Amino acid sequence: MEVVTLGTGSPIPDPNRAGPATLVRAGGRQFLFDCGRGVLLRLAGAGALPITLSALLLTHLHSDHTTDLNDVLTTRWVMSPVPLPLEVFGPVGTEAFVDATVTAMATDIGYRLGHHADLTEPPGVAVTEVASGVVVSSDEVVITCAPTDHAPVHPTVGYRIAADGAVVVVAGDTIPCAGLDTLVEGADVYVQTVVRPSLIEQIPSARLHDVLDYHSSVVQAAETARRGGVQTLVLTHLVPAPFPGTEGDWIAEAAAHFDGEVIVAVDGWSRTVGST
Ligand SMILES: [Zn+2]
Ligand SMILES: [Zn+2]
Repeated sequence: MEVVTLGTGSPIPDPNRAGPATLVRAGGRQFLFDCGRGVLLRLAGAGALPITLSALLLTHLHSDHTTDLNDVLTTRWVMSPVPLPLEVFGPVGTEAFVDATVTAMATDIGYRLGHHADLTEPPGVAVTEVASGVVVSSDEVVITCAPTDHAPVHPTVGYRIAADGAVVVVAGDTIPCAGLDTLVEGADVYVQTVVRPSLIEQIPSARLHDVLDYHSSVVQAAETARRGGVQTLVLTHLVPAPFPGTEGDWIAEAAAHFDGEVIVAVDGWSRTVGST
């Protein structure tokens, strides 16, 4: 199983960090978690295309995690020679969000249906709203989800992917909570979106300070990783993005609370775990 941090940014535009998105390759399939700004560029960089995705799994409906849904759906649709519905999983609200996105795409869909004789159907999407338990299950890969705590944003979920005798967790935006602890238990790789309060507090913006109360800090992510006996903690969605050369400060802050490996992710970082 391979995990790739496609986009490690946040709502703050950054030329080097695309919006939140993570790819997991497992059991011969490719699963995309969230679809933030620039996801298809980073997906192509990882050697994948929207037509090769098995499913899109959303952690929550904040714009930074969903803003390129239109691009995922449209590009998959126009690139595929046959109808290729995309399975989309996400918390309650996902169906309405996807429906509204497809509605917003109606003008373009009309243009393309009118122009291409071999394109006879609009983009297909099969949405399943999830809250906890098994999301995907096959002999090769099992994906489960659990509720997370990103209040007042609700509901939100994180995902645990088990394959090849290994476990990867894509937690999304959340503070420490029981659901998160369930997900990370014994994980090989735990990908956590984080903020760094000591830096944010120096920025004179009340709106930015608001983000502190519904994201894990670096310390909280490290504490969650320690409780779960995690092997590798991957910090992503870094707010504010570290200045080059300061990544060691982030790692040191986590390492004070967690004995395992700590990675400050960049776009395209990847790790293979388990038997393949
Ligand atoms: Zn969020
Ligand atoms: Zn976010």
